[in-house]
This record gives sequence, C-alpha cells and structure tokens, in this order.
Amino acid sequence: MSDRELIVKHLGLRGHRVTGSRRRVLDALLAAPAHFTVDDVLQRAPGVGRATVFRTMKLLQDMNVVCRVLMEDGSLHYRLSTTGHHHHLLCRHCGRIEDFVNCDVSALVTELSSNTEFEIEGHWLEVYGRCQSCRARSAGPADKRAIGSAADVG
Ligand SMILES: [Zn+2]
Ligand SMILES: [Zn+2]
Ligand SMILES: [Zn+2]
Repeated sequence: MSDRELIVKHLGLRGHRVTGSRRRVLDALLAAPAHFTVDDVLQRAPGVGRATVFRTMKLLQDMNVVCRVLMEDGSLHYRLSTTGHHHHLLCRHCGRIEDFVNCDVSALVTELSSNTEFEIEGHWLEVYGRCQSCRARSAGPADKRAIGSAADVG
C-alpha cells in the first residue's frame, strides 16, 4: 500500500471524508521534498485555500501522519512521519533532519509540573548541530594536515 493509500485509509477509518481539496493537499505533500512548508503545499495544490491546507495539515498531524519541524531560522516545516511522539536532530550544515524517538524528558516534565503546578499537556524539543557525515567531512582534511605536520617535525 502506498503512503497515499495508507493516509486515505486512515482518514476514512477516523470518519474523515477525503474531499477533492484534501486529496489535492495529500498529493501535494506526498510529492513534496523531505520537509516542506505550507507554502510549498499551496504551490503544489493550486486552487486549494490556505485555511484548508492548514486544517488538513493539523488533521494529519493529529493522526500522526505528519510532524512539524521548527527550523533554526524560525520557519515551520512539515514532514511525513508515522513514528508517533519523537523529536528531531537538525544539521545546521547540510540541513539533514533525523528523528529520535527515545524522548527522555519525563523526569523534567514531572519536576516542572510539581514546581509550577502547571498541568503539562505536551512539549516540543528540537536539537541543532552537526551531523555525523558533516563532522567526518570537516574532520578529514584537518586530521591529514595534523598527521602531515607531525611527520615533518619527526
Ligand atoms: Zn518528525
Ligand atoms: Zn550535516
Ligand atoms: Zn518528547
């Protein structure tokens, strides 16, 4: 079953009619790159209003079919994702996004809740840095230089 069929099926199971505009939004986001903005979806779904796109994205998000990613520049992107509750590792150098699912903030949430008497209903955490391949790329030549100069001295 394709992603598209799967999402349509999920929507149907939850009693949501897959209308013409929802279908166009679905097609648009399935054809979109790994992560995309509402504007990207709008461009790929001509004739569908912004409010419809936002509502559909919210619905898909509640169904755990898409997730939101907060880019470092403050823009909000979306990503197809069926992993449930998770967070993202964002590489600032190549833009790659990886999921991490072992969310371990429950101790913090419990402490925060008792300290502030706030009933915590959710949280959002994004982690920014340099991915493994970017680290390897930048470390490579530098290491060689270091070895070269050490050899020269010896
Ligand atoms: Zn995600
Ligand atoms: Zn990277
Ligand atoms: Zn979490």
